[in-house]
Amino acid sequence: MHINTKFIHGGISEDKTTGAVSVPIYQTSTYRQNGLGQPKEYEYSRSGNPTRHALEELIADLEGGVQGFAFGSGLAGIHTVLSLFAPGSHIILGDDVYGGTFRIIDKVFVKNGLEYTIVDTSNLANIEENIQENTKAIYVESPSNPLLKITDIQAVAELAKKHNLLTLVDNTFATPYLQRPLELGADIVLHSGTKYLGGHSDVVSGLVTTNNQELASEIGFLQNAVGGILGPQDSWLTQRGIKTLGIRMEAHQKNAQAVAEYLENHEAVEKVFYPGLASHAGHELAKKQMSGFGGMVSFELKNEAKTAEFVEALKIFTLAESLGGVESLVEVPSIMTHASIPKDKREAAGIKDGLVRLSVGIEYVDDLLADVKQALDKVGK
Ligand SMILES: *Cc1c(COP(=O)(O)O)cnc(C)c1O
Repeated sequence: MHINTKFIHGGISEDKTTGAVSVPIYQTSTYRQNGLGQPKEYEYSRSGNPTRHALEELIADLEGGVQGFAFGSGLAGIHTVLSLFAPGSHIILGDDVYGGTFRIIDKVFVKNGLEYTIVDTSNLANIEENIQENTKAIYVESPSNPLLKITDIQAVAELAKKHNLLTLVDNTFATPYLQRPLELGADIVLHSGTKYLGGHSDVVSGLVTTNNQELASEIGFLQNAVGGILGPQDSWLTQRGIKTLGIRMEAHQKNAQAVAEYLENHEAVEKVFYPGLASHAGHELAKKQMSGFGGMVSFELKNEAKTAEFVEALKIFTLAESLGGVESLVEVPSIMTHASIPKDKREAAGIKDGLVRLSVGIEYVDDLLADVKQALDKVGK
């Protein structure tokens, strides 16, 4: 079945009891039992809920996992997955991962004995050099946030297997429409469902899946034990968003390519980061590993001092955190999404204070280009 069909019919796509073609929102906390010690399929909604279950089956189906898990946010999912590791474990972490991912490791898990080393995972040698005796996993984002760096997931997974490590991939930017890390050898895939999967900036959610039955059992145990589950309303919204993921991603990346090319040819722009540009260091690898380049574009102005003026001059691109919704957004990572990463670490990773990140929406492309043009005209060269 093509993934575009799976978006609509994958996992559990209709209600077992009524045949409703949209899985209902089972707004219930508990379930009547058949007799003492004889629960039905569901017992209590932290452990399982039919609306959430439908979404969980869907993400597993889309990514090629054996079981899916839905959480109250992307970070709640990341928290649960990182809880797999005992104190004293070490992980290798990409150097421009989502700011909140860095923060939960640096400020929460380190306190509980997790160790980490930050490397540029787009260069495999950096990973290999930093594998220690207590290393348990390699945590990768590709494309990364906000520099859209591309890491060779298959090569990382092969290296990880050789050293008996897990490969964890945050697939939020690519979505299963453009890239399926489990098929490339990864062990666990993580998503912020808040972004492209939900797709309409109306829900916060997180999804996790794995193709390893043992890991699935451990994650399932932790999901119930820690309790950061996604509620039925938000499960329904996330599943509804996924139904149109294929056509939205096509529209996002068509617009993003046009915006990236426009920026690259503009005299006020210093540098553009978009994997769909031939000038991007990861362009060839992205072509091989992904079926498209996605909707995220970052760039620097020649005159960094004009960054605030530029983002405030945009009219259709809304100045806001987050990404992946139908509407175009703009943000400055150093002040917004990545402010929790210390300046020296940010700069070492290549994230300059003047870096601007665009989440290119699915509006009419000429309107987006005109908006960028009028804002660039205001800041001049
Ligand atoms: C937003 C984001 C997260 C965190 O997800 P939340 O739903 O905001 O908790 C993790 N990874 C990436 C790549 C993100 O963009």
